Amino acid sequence: MSKNKLVIFLILLALIAIAVVVIKSVYFSSDHDEQQFYSMDTIIDIKVWGENSKSVTQSIIQEVNRLSTIFDDYSQSSEVYKINSHAGVDPVIVSQETSEIFQIAKSYYYKTNGAFNVMISPIARLWGFKGGEFRVPTEEKINEALELTDISDLEISGDTVFLKKKGEAVDLGGIAKGYALDKIYEILKMSKAKSALINFGGSVLTYGTPDGGVWKIGVKNPRGEGVSGILKITGDKFISTSGDYERFFIQDGTRYCHIFDPSTGLPAKKIVSVTVVGDKGYLTDILSTAFFVLGKENSIKLSENMGVEILGFDNELEFFATKWSSENFEKR
Ligand code: AMP
Ligand code: MG
Repeated sequence: MSKNKLVIFLILLALIAIAVVVIKSVYFSSDHDEQQFYSMDTIIDIKVWGENSKSVTQSIIQEVNRLSTIFDDYSQSSEVYKINSHAGVDPVIVSQETSEIFQIAKSYYYKTNGAFNVMISPIARLWGFKGGEFRVPTEEKINEALELTDISDLEISGDTVFLKKKGEAVDLGGIAKGYALDKIYEILKMSKAKSALINFGGSVLTYGTPDGGVWKIGVKNPRGEGVSGILKITGDKFISTSGDYERFFIQDGTRYCHIFDPSTGLPAKKIVSVTVVGDKGYLTDILSTAFFVLGKENSIKLSENMGVEILGFDNELEFFATKWSSENFEKR
């Protein structure tokens, strides 16, 4: 190589090195981070915009994993597992979060006229939705399991939780995701994040204002691919959807889904999906489950008292909604 060529080669090498450094620094100072991970039996999508977005997403992941180790009723080391395995034996000392979530859950049993019952687990188990095989149980078995769902047997006192009868069991599946979103919201408010979008397996948190000013949240088509429409949301909101397409089995042409009517012990079947928009994660999560049980008319009525907006599809796949929801939902 001649001297000139060597100089050109070295200059090129230096330029490439500078370019790599510039690209790397732009990438690492990026004010946007996206993460997807699996926890609490579902996929969680996190998108954060703003300063230190990477450390914000890491704090969120840590918090969700922490809550999962407390709430997961399948994990032998969780507090919920301990409450269930001590049913009829003795009260269990729990964390502040566990005591709080059960107090909330119990109070919404009464506020939803019994449609939301955190003690539904023996029924879900019987139908094969908590391990084992899906099956349609006999009426006798259903009535036996219903005996184990009496909410007054759930005693929360200070830092202890106690199920009075052996065989009783609690299941936070209808509230834990929303409650976790409330904790995520606290993290976001304490951070320098400008905006964020968290999708927690059917429950969504919108935080701040996106480019364009409005969040566009897809509502899943309950009977097909893609979305049935787009919900336009401004600012900080929680949006939860419950549907019979999430987990179900079909036997002899009948669909049996994972949400149960606590008054009958049968899978709820008044509607096929309902979406709730509100200002608290636990609230929209609880209410989407409860409204799925209650059906269209009762849900619209109750939503007014609860300060939430709803939309959904009934058994004929007819759209129903409160006024705000119909004005902010673009059908596809
Ligand atoms: P979601 O998808 O939020 O509607 O929650 C459904 C989950 O909540 C189910 O998988 C059960 O773990 C639990 N669940 C089912 N039926 C009820 C009910 N009536 N009240 C409270 N939790 C329920
Ligand atoms: Mg729910």
